[in-house]
Amino acid sequence: MKPKRAAIIGAGMAGVSAAKSLAASGWEVVVFEKSRGWGGRCATKGIEGCVVDHGAQYFTMRDASFEAAVREACGDSLRAIDAPVVDPDGRHLEAGPMFYHADGNNRLARALGAGLDVRTGVEVNGGLEIVGAPFDTVVSTAPWPQTCKLAGIPVVSNPYAPCLAALLVYDFPWTQVARHRYAVRDEASNELTWSACENHKTGRIADGLTVLVAHASKGFSREHLEDDPSDWSAILRRRAEQLWNIPPTALRHIHPHRWRFARVTQKIAPSGLPSDWIFAGDLLSASRVESAWIAGRNAVAHLL
Ligand SMILES: Cc1cc2nc3c(=O)[nH]c(=O)nc-3n(C[C@H](O)[C@H](O)[C@H](O)COP(=O)(O)OP(=O)(O)OC[C@H]3O[C@@H](n4cnc5c(N)ncnc54)[C@H](O)[C@@H]3O)c2cc1C
Repeated sequence: MKPKRAAIIGAGMAGVSAAKSLAASGWEVVVFEKSRGWGGRCATKGIEGCVVDHGAQYFTMRDASFEAAVREACGDSLRAIDAPVVDPDGRHLEAGPMFYHADGNNRLARALGAGLDVRTGVEVNGGLEIVGAPFDTVVSTAPWPQTCKLAGIPVVSNPYAPCLAALLVYDFPWTQVARHRYAVRDEASNELTWSACENHKTGRIADGLTVLVAHASKGFSREHLEDDPSDWSAILRRRAEQLWNIPPTALRHIHPHRWRFARVTQKIAPSGLPSDWIFAGDLLSASRVESAWIAGRNAVAHLL
């Protein structure tokens, strides 16, 4: 029998796990990714000679099947963050074990998807005409509003909140201000809810530098989403410098990044897709790296 063919949209965690599940069951699978690299929101940027995660900061491995897959795929590149997450007053917050990939969290998708046919830099634009050969099924992991547009159905809701992020590089010794804490979480803040020191990820940051990743609150991100990035990143920067006691004069580089569909904030059941389309993104579970991986696998289970 001729094997069935699936086109997967997106080489993030959900796309990779959906593709792996189908390929393991004998399907012919091609993954199309519009960006140059794998990982999606599990994103990493090279900046000033440093490797910085600006999307998913770390991942958990609460699910045994995810943990087994990650350990096998990553080997020695799997690392744990030792320092705690604290509140602005320094009190430790429960975070559970936090893991990262030694070479950047975007490498996790690549490791888990080893052997897949992934075509990066290819933006699917409705109907997959660009691809030529027909597919039996399209599995989309693009955030739901984008999936609706691709499938040609109306976008009736956006269940994701945006997140404005700033990557901050300082000429400053990190051990003076950040050795005892990995991140500060401040859910009550209207501006900066998360700031983390990437120096805790061993071997990632050039000597003599401190790198902070700052994530704005949902409200702030919504309010400033379309504003000039230099305006909102300056606000995040000032707040981060206060929290981490870093002199503003030490700033070497600031890189703003706008996540338009960062995290799922509302549970909706994706519906209305054409009969040969399946949606498989993190909306089906939760906005966490491991949940996206599980969502991808589970979404294609009934095809198998
Ligand atoms: C700022 C931020 C911080 C986060 N922090 C954490 C954290 O610390 N821990 C944690 O566990 N989770 C975290 N998350 C959540 C986690 O990153 C996501 O839940 C998860 O990565 C989503 O995976 P996904 O595969 O469902 O979607 P995505 O990663 O968004 O993958 C979808 C892919 O589809 C591609 N695509 C879209 N349209 C097209 C098209 N037309 N053609 C081709 N390709 C297309 C996109 O480029 C993307 O690569 C964070 C997310 C953000 C944004």
